[in-house]
Amino acid sequence: MENENLGADDVPDLLTVSFSATDRIGHQYGPYSKEQHDQILRLDRIVADLLDYLDSRIGLDNMIVLMTADHGSAPIPEYIAQFGVDAGRIDTSEVPEGEDSVVIPQTVDAALDRALGRADWIEAFVKPNLYLNYSEIDARRLSRRKVEEIGAQALKQLHGIAEVLTRTQLLTGDFLENEITLRMSNQFFPKRSGDLVIVNQPYYLTSAYKHSINKGSDHETCYDYDTHIPFILLGKAFKAGAYHFPVTLNDMAPTLANVLGLAYPSGNQGRVLHECLN
Ligand SMILES: [Zn+2]
Repeated sequence: MENENLGADDVPDLLTVSFSATDRIGHQYGPYSKEQHDQILRLDRIVADLLDYLDSRIGLDNMIVLMTADHGSAPIPEYIAQFGVDAGRIDTSEVPEGEDSVVIPQTVDAALDRALGRADWIEAFVKPNLYLNYSEIDARRLSRRKVEEIGAQALKQLHGIAEVLTRTQLLTGDFLENEITLRMSNQFFPKRSGDLVIVNQPYYLTSAYKHSINKGSDHETCYDYDTHIPFILLGKAFKAGAYHFPVTLNDMAPTLANVLGLAYPSGNQGRVLHECLN
């Protein structure tokens, strides 16, 4: 801040800071752990120090502070199950380094072997996307839609899976619209998304406990525990108070643009939170 001379003239400067330990500790130990509790208390002090410094250097009246997060997190299934919640993992045994699941691609491969003959049907599984092997499908002159449907039916039988949509369904809008499928369709990107897109049941995680990266918990669904985030606006432009209506992270950019007198971002899908403006 000092070397870049931030806040020294009338042209607004943008400083972004990510406190990424929150994510890492959440993955390792889960949101209800002593470790996360300790980290959040320390983070609170770090943020206080930063705000004190900004106040003394620039003055809080001359700044807008926005605080948020990109996602929440599921409780550790083994922990939440103790309280009678239906929770678990789709893969219960260890998954090799670099893989997201063994049971999910195996289930689809086995179902396609039975229905269409033996082959390597799966290209990859990167949760929540399963990619089919197009060269096998094309070599046998099969319709991709049919192959997708057989795979989806097999996955829906797996304990812990709530919904599976196929690429064809997502491209054509051929599905019953509800909270889950609407969000699946929002995150579908034809150039990169899979041929089958999977949503777990609430409180179910894909990976086994020992998975090296996401050892304990993860954030992989559209449920409230994964999508509920802090959303704090601080500055002269905002009316003080707590607001009890649903917002999305998408609302932050147009709200900030409005306050700064700027055009909205080109891909804007949010709204200006005018309820909070002075
Ligand atoms: Zn994460």
